[in-house]
Amino acid sequence: MKVYITRPIPQNGIAMLKKEHEVIVNPEDRVLSREQLQQAVKGVEAIVSLVTDKVDGELLDAAGPQLKIVANYAVGYDNIDLIAAKERNVLVSNTPEVLNEAVAEHAFALLMAVARRVVEADRFTRAGRYKQWEPLGFLGIELNGKTLGVMGLGRIGSRVAEIGKSFGMRVVYYDVKQNKEFEQSIGAQLLSKEELLKAADVVSVHVPLVESTHHFIVGKDFAIMKDTAILINTSRGPVVDENALVEALKTKIIFGAGLDVFEREPELTLGLAECENVVITPHIASATTEAREGMARVAAENVLAALAGKIPPNLVK
Ligand code: NAD
Repeated sequence: MKVYITRPIPQNGIAMLKKEHEVIVNPEDRVLSREQLQQAVKGVEAIVSLVTDKVDGELLDAAGPQLKIVANYAVGYDNIDLIAAKERNVLVSNTPEVLNEAVAEHAFALLMAVARRVVEADRFTRAGRYKQWEPLGFLGIELNGKTLGVMGLGRIGSRVAEIGKSFGMRVVYYDVKQNKEFEQSIGAQLLSKEELLKAADVVSVHVPLVESTHHFIVGKDFAIMKDTAILINTSRGPVVDENALVEALKTKIIFGAGLDVFEREPELTLGLAECENVVITPHIASATTEAREGMARVAAENVLAALAGKIPPNLVK
């Protein structure tokens, strides 16, 4: 059977698929246009898609009725119209777990960079502005003893909580589901969203992008956060109202932010790049060799299962 991979992914996953199927990989390392993608998937049984591919009814119809699975090379699947897939009996899978460590560590990389003003200080030093040691220069914030607020205590959020604990942070969380076992294991406390925003020195967002989490954090939320608070977003851009965030950063009603995702990716909201108190990375939280090879393996396992008539291990319902 035919498998189309919309952009080169690590070879380990491609090799697994090639053992059993005909595999076509987009030879160019870039996102295909809508028309090119529709053309490329015609007649295939499986598509390995990326977060940058919009998978909707039109694309599924362009592929044809033989299509069995769309295996997203990501844990989030907000780029896929699940109803359209269900209507056409197309299975959808994702790649959970294998990127937990990479994303959680990246959330902390952003957090440390914002708290200790690492990128700002790097720019300063490179510009030749370091002339003498400053007793009051680049004062940052220590994490030990501070409160970490995890929004969405799922696979990634709970790993972030554990890392925070190891930094000597008190952990609070907000989630639609309570996790008593986890609460006991690291002494975390469930709060309401408002309580968390008021109490946290660091708010790290790990909810999926769904209807209920679109603009989950807006202007009034920044207003109740501490003026020393740091926001970290490694989930999905539209979860945060980016205009309101730019305003909060400019007026310094929060200390700073670390962002790996953006509301209108790859575009940045006007004014964001000019803020010194934000650290921004281009959606690279899962970009470690370990995580990306894990994602390639898991995506391949899902395709192989579906094409063998089995339920893929990471079926998205
Ligand atoms: P998960 O499903 O394990 O965890 C999500 C948690 O959010 C769950 O505990 C769920 O109960 C909670 N939640 C859902 N809706 C909520 C709401 N309205 N209010 C409060 N809590 C809510 O998912 P995960 O594997 O931890 O991944 C989380 C997200 O991280 C993904 O959906 C994806 O968008 C994002 N992600 C980003 C990158 C990146 O490269 N930046 C990489 C991986 C994942």
